[in-house]
Amino acid sequence: MEATVAITEAQQKKVKPDPETLKFGKTFTDHMFTMDYTSDLGWIQPEIKPYAPVEIDPAAMVFHYSQSVFEGLKAYKNPNGEAVLFRPEENFKRLNRSNKRLSIPPINEELALDYLKQLIELEKDWIPSAEGTSLYIRPFVIATEPSLQVAPAHNYKFFIILSPVGSYYPEGIHPVSIMVEDHFTRAARGGTGTAKTGGNYSAGYNAQAKAASEGHAQVLWLDGVEKKYVEEVGSMNVFFKINGEIVTPQLNDSILQGVTRKSVIELLKHWNIPVSERKIPMQEIFDAYESGELEEAFGSGTAAVISPIGELTWKDSTMIVNGRKTGEVTKSLYQTLTQIQTGKQEDPFGWTVKI
Ligand SMILES: *Cc1c(COP(=O)(O)O)cnc(C)c1O
Repeated sequence: MEATVAITEAQQKKVKPDPETLKFGKTFTDHMFTMDYTSDLGWIQPEIKPYAPVEIDPAAMVFHYSQSVFEGLKAYKNPNGEAVLFRPEENFKRLNRSNKRLSIPPINEELALDYLKQLIELEKDWIPSAEGTSLYIRPFVIATEPSLQVAPAHNYKFFIILSPVGSYYPEGIHPVSIMVEDHFTRAARGGTGTAKTGGNYSAGYNAQAKAASEGHAQVLWLDGVEKKYVEEVGSMNVFFKINGEIVTPQLNDSILQGVTRKSVIELLKHWNIPVSERKIPMQEIFDAYESGELEEAFGSGTAAVISPIGELTWKDSTMIVNGRKTGEVTKSLYQTLTQIQTGKQEDPFGWTVKI
């Protein structure tokens, strides 16, 4: 049984963009999903309606105290032209973990997935099918109560908006240069690093600008206390291959629990490639590089899926990883994950959800 949603179809449909020229997150589809929360009635009025600006009171609490959370996942077209989602239940679970951290009331995960499916069903012609393209899905919640009191809001709005995205690698997957950040902090122990909440990202812009001005694509974040342990790279989780073993930082309350990270670990175990989640001192990466044991490095996240790292700058040293070429394990992970996501390869894990 489908959850009940009031659907109002757009009178005028937009012209679909050319997937070759799409910039990430700049184009939106014809419809959006919204639902409201009041402390008296809970989540009410699920609606799919034409995509349009919304009117919000300037005193809405989200503008003042940043009570907001978001998610990011993708819909793909499989070779039969059907819409496929990748592990969407993981995203709604994480949305509720983020909600909890930001004192936002939980949503019903099953209903939310059902609403999303109905929205995708209506917008399926917006899913591009060219190699590497997809429909990016952005669910988010904001506090809408007009109040300047420093306390959790009584009113919220949940949205799902959709944006067709072009290939992350129009010229093929290629390794990037990373700067290890040893001044700014993304997230600290006891903070909001495990939540997908806006403030974590704007707080990283300074470091990102510094890295970009020095010619690097992204920042590698160290722990906020000692600046000693590896945490994440940009908005991705990070993996290294050291002497045949894949290692990634173990989860703590300053690392975002990526769905791609989880899938990478499960895939490596399935392939019988040794993988461990543990604390990784940056010094260990440097020592492995010096002894010739740093074999591969890559980031993982929904946007790029897998992003190989070709170069790491830490203090005054630059480490060249695998001669700036994409490593074998990195390549296999990228290929297998993207083929499963797009239904081009059998999914033995039950990760994909057809609509
Ligand atoms: C979203 C995100 C990731 C990656 O998560 P996925 O579920 O794999 O997309 C990693 N780190 C940060 C900080 C993120 O916001």
